[in-house]
Amino acid sequence: MADYQAIIGMEVHAQLLTRSKMFCGCSADAFGAQPNTNVCPVCLALPGALPVANRRAVEQTVTVGLALNCQINETAVFSRKNYFYPDLPKGYQISMYDFPLCQHGWVEIESPDGAQKRIRIRRVHLEEDTAKSYHMVERTLVDFNRAGLPLIEIVTEPDLRSPEEARQYLMGLRTVLRYLGVSSADMEKGAMRCEANVSLRPAGSDELGTKVEVKNLNSFRAVKQALAYEIERQAEALDAGQRVRQVTMGWSEARGQTVEQRAKEESEDYRYFPEPDLPRLQVAPAWVEELRAALPEMPDVLQKRFVAEYGLSPLEASVLVDDRNVADYFIRTTEAAVERAIPPRIVANWITGDFFRLLKARDGEISDLQITPAALAELIRLVERQEITASSGKTVLEEMAATGRPPGEIVRERRLGQISDQEVLDQIVGELIAAHPEEVATYRAGKETVLQWFMGQVMRATRGKADPQVVLSLLEEKLKP
Ligand code: ADP
Ligand code: MG
Ligand code: ZN
Repeated sequence: MADYQAIIGMEVHAQLLTRSKMFCGCSADAFGAQPNTNVCPVCLALPGALPVANRRAVEQTVTVGLALNCQINETAVFSRKNYFYPDLPKGYQISMYDFPLCQHGWVEIESPDGAQKRIRIRRVHLEEDTAKSYHMVERTLVDFNRAGLPLIEIVTEPDLRSPEEARQYLMGLRTVLRYLGVSSADMEKGAMRCEANVSLRPAGSDELGTKVEVKNLNSFRAVKQALAYEIERQAEALDAGQRVRQVTMGWSEARGQTVEQRAKEESEDYRYFPEPDLPRLQVAPAWVEELRAALPEMPDVLQKRFVAEYGLSPLEASVLVDDRNVADYFIRTTEAAVERAIPPRIVANWITGDFFRLLKARDGEISDLQITPAALAELIRLVERQEITASSGKTVLEEMAATGRPPGEIVRERRLGQISDQEVLDQIVGELIAAHPEEVATYRAGKETVLQWFMGQVMRATRGKADPQVVLSLLEEKLKP
């Protein structure tokens, strides 16, 4: 097989989290309601109905543009994109074409070799969602609750070079949308949908090859698999001396392959023209500056701060910033821990370790747990000061999650205070050694693993409360031949 380079560009749609739809007052909650109940003359396209743009949706779009380092245009124009489909009652979608709200941005991703890489954002524009079709065996049902939901489209330049980079880009974008609080960006629920464009070119060439667009990608896994499959397919075609045809493909999860859907449409096919029923949008620069000032600290900045200020490893930091609630929780716990002279690294260890395990086991969100940052910091202090053992710490954490009670209370009630008292442990160790002469002989004959076995016995006898350091030195001393 000849050596090819893959070129990938992504188009992502995300539903915005507004209360009402893009051009009417209907509720934008597409999930809760009975089908076809959040509808009105505007989103059903009854004759004579007129759209009014949702200010909050414009604001959220500008915020996304700012977070993606875009230029925000002072004038944006809604245009009609004409095509026919049963889920599009007007026969056109109101979108933006030659004058989008945001252009020329960039984001950074971590490419597989670990380097930071800049992906250019071509545009971010605002449009309306279509209704949702349910394809049954003999007929198709349409739910218009989704018709007219505000949708943003984010388009990259063809800067991605592998399926893994595409996945990284999407995960980063999802994190940004969630940090901004503008979208749930949940791919499984269709709140974030993506189309991947991919072409190949001979390694070393700088011309772009013919691209194929792949739709129907419902998860990060699907994106990666579909791109890998499509790259392979195109390479085989090129090797066989064929040309890649510019088509739109769908990803079939069941068959694990891309399936041709239709010949690629050109923008002429949509007969775009400015929407006559809406004024052009005038975006005041002062308003943009207000929105810029209100941007939250973004995940990449936060990650760097965690590394620089708190001494975390880049990997640890990236795990913590992945979810803004987790990052906030870490910051607050760290503040509470500093008062107790516990370094942030230890806090990070706890959160990414036992704490995440607990969240996973309960399949919950961090906000569902009843553990306050101060309570977690206190628990960490108890373990760090060796007032309780690490294994008792886990027990206490679980009970804190279940009951919301403070760690000190649980420790007292369950008598989990660590035994480091020499005299007490001396007696326990002495008794064990006396009761197991054979094991003592084996150890003295050179089998050192027996020491671990004795250690286990002491822990068992003390229900995990013995101070391991003290026990170890007692055992070594007493087992000496
Ligand atoms: P279209 O008009 O067919 O939608 P665009 O130029 O608008 O094409 O680009 C759509 C997406 O495809 C963008 O994300 C862009 O980066 C990407 N893209 C454009 N050309 C190529 C190419 N040759 N190979 C891979 N991706 C491409
Ligand atoms: Mg396109
Ligand atoms: Zn409506």
